[in-house]
Amino acid sequence: MIRFDNSYARMPQGFFARVDPTPVTAPSLLALNGPLADRLGLDRDALTVEMLAGNAVPQGATPLAQAYAGHQFGGFVPQLGDGRAVLLGEVVAPDGARFDLQLKGSGPTPFSRRGDGRAWMGPVLREYLVSEFMAAMGVPTTRALAAVATGDQVWREQGGLPGAVLTRVAASHIRVGTFQYFAVRDRKDALAALTAHVIARHYPGADGPLALLDRVVAAQAETIAQWMALGFIHGVMNTDNMAISGETIDYGPCAFMDVYHPQTVFSSIDRQGRYAWANQPQIAVWNLAQFATCLIPLMGEEEAAVEAATTAVHRFAPLYQAAWLRRFGAKLGIDGEAHQSLIESLLQMMAEQKADFTRVFAGLSDGTARDEFTDRAAFDVWARDWQALSPDMAAMARANPRRIPRNHRVEQAITSAVAGDMAPFERLFDAITHPHDMRADWADLAQAPTPAQAVRQTFCGT
Ligand code: AMP
Ligand code: MG
Repeated sequence: MIRFDNSYARMPQGFFARVDPTPVTAPSLLALNGPLADRLGLDRDALTVEMLAGNAVPQGATPLAQAYAGHQFGGFVPQLGDGRAVLLGEVVAPDGARFDLQLKGSGPTPFSRRGDGRAWMGPVLREYLVSEFMAAMGVPTTRALAAVATGDQVWREQGGLPGAVLTRVAASHIRVGTFQYFAVRDRKDALAALTAHVIARHYPGADGPLALLDRVVAAQAETIAQWMALGFIHGVMNTDNMAISGETIDYGPCAFMDVYHPQTVFSSIDRQGRYAWANQPQIAVWNLAQFATCLIPLMGEEEAAVEAATTAVHRFAPLYQAAWLRRFGAKLGIDGEAHQSLIESLLQMMAEQKADFTRVFAGLSDGTARDEFTDRAAFDVWARDWQALSPDMAAMARANPRRIPRNHRVEQAITSAVAGDMAPFERLFDAITHPHDMRADWADLAQAPTPAQAVRQTFCGT
């Protein structure tokens, strides 16, 4: 039995639509995250495949689709909402932390517009792998509790594909777009209720909307700096995909770079490179400005409110810069603040020489970084300056994963899973959720793709 306590279901009229998941034909378990179930205090026997597929609604759940709006690639859409997900409810873990349990791909809702409410196995397994890697690296993120195959086909551009449902766990699924939904409707009462809910849930002690804004700005600055330090490209940083909790959410066309280049983009629909790796901090600021705009009506006299909100959003830049220097400093085992130019000269050399992002940093610990460069003499000059600082090897080991969910490996795992073989997925999952372990039998998973293997585009056709 799962002990639910569904605070969102107690929010006022208009926050959500009550809707049950739509049953599927032949549910079968693809993956279950036992350690996460334990961390949440969930009895593994309660996590039946019928429940995880949406065929059986557990006692105490109040399935609902959340309303939200959002800026998608800069264009405002006043109504989005959970079009293919339902929040089953919230559970309180043994340590008191509250988590949403959401089924994603669980069938149509009143917010589905023209969509089928479903997901196919590819993006479900991609999210499972990538979000759990992020968690293993200590990046704030939603988590993956389970993936089930539905036995039904879903139709996408590629044709008929096997359907799947992901059980997603999050501190909450409240987004910048949730605030925008009420702001655009002039629902000041609802904005106040949402603000109070979010403060109580995520930022207890924050004294009102301005303090909340400060906290969210700080949380996002830390999270985005962590993405950057892993070469992570979110791919769809729309305001509906930015969580108020600071957790990374919505792993649609996301990917990690192999070769380092700051303008790297993978998403097939991001034709302008709006969400390229190097643009992510500026986009975060843009999104946070939208959040701030929603809060202004709650902040008293308008002129003063605008000024205070603007100042709060501008704090992102110095906080992010400090977090970035701390993260990249740790990757080099040095004080990033004091040696910014050394970090920047390495990155520049990596870009010029098309070096593999993950392998360079991991290789600094064991002397193999040099092999990633074509102009080794240039690297040696840099390395002399770096070594003169006596880098902290333990800090480096923690900051630099040996293995990441490389695109080509994720795609291989998906292809095999579609063919009924979960072994490559399981092996990859094990290797990337132990990202620091040195294991000879995982050496292949630390390799960069060959030019033929390299994946250059990811698809949102989720
Ligand atoms: P995403 O790109 O996953 O962030 O989704 C953007 C919006 O489209 C959200 O409102 C989703 O619920 C909705 N959506 C995406 N895919 C589907 C689908 N297959 N069926 C219904 N709604 C969808
Ligand atoms: Mg989304």
